[in-house]
Amino acid sequence: MRFEIITIFPGFFAGIFEHGIVRRAQAEGLVSVGIHDLRTFTHDRHRTVDDRPFGGGEGMVLKPEPLAKALESLGIEMKRQIEPTHRNEAAMNGAHTDASVEGRPKVVLMSAQGRPFTQAAAREMAKLEQVVLICGRYEGVDERINELYCDMELSIGDYVLSGGELAAAVVVDTVMRLVPGVLGNEASGEFESFGVGDAEIDMDMEGVPRSQHGAGGLLDYPHYTRPAEFGGLKAPEVLLNGDHQEIRRWRREQQLRKTLRNRPDLIEKAQHSGVLNATDLAFIDKLSGR
Ligand code: SAH
Repeated sequence: MRFEIITIFPGFFAGIFEHGIVRRAQAEGLVSVGIHDLRTFTHDRHRTVDDRPFGGGEGMVLKPEPLAKALESLGIEMKRQIEPTHRNEAAMNGAHTDASVEGRPKVVLMSAQGRPFTQAAAREMAKLEQVVLICGRYEGVDERINELYCDMELSIGDYVLSGGELAAAVVVDTVMRLVPGVLGNEASGEFESFGVGDAEIDMDMEGVPRSQHGAGGLLDYPHYTRPAEFGGLKAPEVLLNGDHQEIRRWRREQQLRKTLRNRPDLIEKAQHSGVLNATDLAFIDKLSGR
């Protein structure tokens, strides 16, 4: 899988993908990242990438021409041309937003106005061959770039960053570890926070105790390692006694407990999607004193 990142700050990425799993995945040739300096696609003396917003107001906007050139240098053409008179109407109907173009790399605009980037979105993205990430700056990117070239706008959370670079790095890191072969154990992505439920798990692991149900969209259970006692706190007894079934049950309960406390919205979602079994539901009732 290959990522192409378009940015006005290529230096931002120096070092950021050179650690841990992400570095190894690249060394093994499973994934690669290309960084593209937007300023190389300008033609004026000042290498201008931004301009004042039409209609007035704060800040600057990334101009469309250099971005279009950068995309075209990656072999990405405009999507279906839209008659100018129909453009607003089409935009209102969502006719040309978030629509993929077959056989072309996925073009993603990093944007606080985007759809939420979730683990589920990352799993989908990990199936793609090539993804282009456009990093905005200032007040953002001229909207016509979104209309003409992008398949989706993606937000990494409900807050405003000063640029899309950090967001793009988050996407690359998250997606990369889900590319088959990158994590030592291919299944391990299923059993961590926001993992899929039983029905979607088609891989199995041998020997090691794990949740019987997949993470099912719940948060991960707490982890412990040596020493068995630290700061006056003992690691939970159940983890030391080697009874794998007991360990599984305890971990599942801890997942439910933590998710209920920190992310009750996820419990509700899990309830609706039917990934919780009768034992889970009884445990939740007990926790909530029902
Ligand atoms: N005026 C915009 C914010 C611009 S911030 C607004 O209010 O929505 C500048 C750039 O940072 C954006 O173009 C985008 O590329 C990036 N960015 C900011 N917040 C982001 C987020 N939550 N997720 C992804 N990208 C973000």
